[in-house]
Amino acid sequence: MKPIVVIGSGLAGFNVVKEFRKLDKETPLVVLTADDGRSYSKPMLSTGFTKEKTADELAMASPEQVAEQFNVTVRTHVHVAGIDVDGHRVLLPDDHLDYSKLVLALGADTWTPPLEGDAVGEVFSVNDLMDYGRFREALQGKRRVTILGGGLIGCEFANDLSNGGFEVALVEPMGRCLPLLLPQAASEAVGRGLETLGVRFHFGPLAQAVHHGDDDTLITELSDGTRVESEAVLSAIGLRPRIDMAKEAGLRTNRGILTDRTLRTSAEDIYALGDCAEVEGHVLPYVLPLMAGARALAKTLAGEETAVSYGVMPVTIKTPACPVVVCPPPADHEGEWEVTEQENNVTALFRGTDGTLLGYALTGDAVKEKLKLNKELPALMP
Ligand code: FAD
Repeated sequence: MKPIVVIGSGLAGFNVVKEFRKLDKETPLVVLTADDGRSYSKPMLSTGFTKEKTADELAMASPEQVAEQFNVTVRTHVHVAGIDVDGHRVLLPDDHLDYSKLVLALGADTWTPPLEGDAVGEVFSVNDLMDYGRFREALQGKRRVTILGGGLIGCEFANDLSNGGFEVALVEPMGRCLPLLLPQAASEAVGRGLETLGVRFHFGPLAQAVHHGDDDTLITELSDGTRVESEAVLSAIGLRPRIDMAKEAGLRTNRGILTDRTLRTSAEDIYALGDCAEVEGHVLPYVLPLMAGARALAKTLAGEETAVSYGVMPVTIKTPACPVVVCPPPADHEGEWEVTEQENNVTALFRGTDGTLLGYALTGDAVKEKLKLNKELPALMP
């Protein structure tokens, strides 16, 4: 019997396995993963310095433990090279593997802008447990870190590294924290919160080059001529759904791998979920949507065709210096932010032209309003 094959051992891949095994104990399952296959919760990577956790301490289970617990074969350090859609098989470096059904849980790639300089190879990004382990190791005995990017990952690391005793400089060309998620007043509250921890912002210029300086230092050169000195540089500029393999196999892609509401791609017996997927136009690189996807897809794989529903999908940003919860309004809706603020406590409500609440951003003590607002918001994809 050909197995169901899952590519990816992140939260999306392992949660499909877990949910499927609640419904079907026997059908052979194989997980193929390019990484070391340890089970971990990715959001914990940006709280590891606060909690003083090594990569090993953040790992929740070894691949062998996952294999035993869920009766699944986990093949680690296997980089899948492609998909033979007509032959129903995945192409491995020296081999192939037949599948009955295939789940793409490929995640997203970090994106770093084209930087110049002789130290570009030393710029870190942290997008999985192995990256985190290397980054943590590299920071041993270091004091200053420059972060490129002030989005969710950049701001969370700014808070976490400050809590861990590092001096942080953060470069954000769009001029404020979380510029793509928050309205101005809420961004400013987060900026003030992080400043109380000592974070220094370089708002406006782009990072252009990273050079070696004297005594083990790195110099990040900005487009306004500023030279930021530190001992480590972390790029947190952005993530892009991994779509190349699907695209080369002829599957339909846009920003992510396109699926319908049952997470079915344009190819027969191939499904996608998690950060790599674009589900009926939604690219939502967060945990809540992938958990909803894993539950629905498990049922479909077990024979009961099930569409995924997305309720209200708030995102909590782990910046305890100024807590944030945001439910971004859908991209295609017209409307305006209504903002009330008292110091770092900002309530920003995004209302459509007819007054309907379509999204919100809350900071500081205002995060307490989350539950009340969630009840008022329409479901994202009922
Ligand atoms: P991944 O975890 O990236 O897994 C992808 C898997 O695919 C990996 O196992 C990889 O090895 C494998 N793979 C890829 N290509 C191949 C190939 N060719 N062959 C074999 N294997 C392959 N979200 C929240 O909701 N709340 C938070 O607080 C939050 N905090 C975050 C903090 C950080 C630092 C980061 C980076 C993200 C955070 N997120 C948060 C986002 C959330 O963690 C992700 O949405 C989620 O973990 C994505 O899971 P995934 O399984 O889709 O992808």
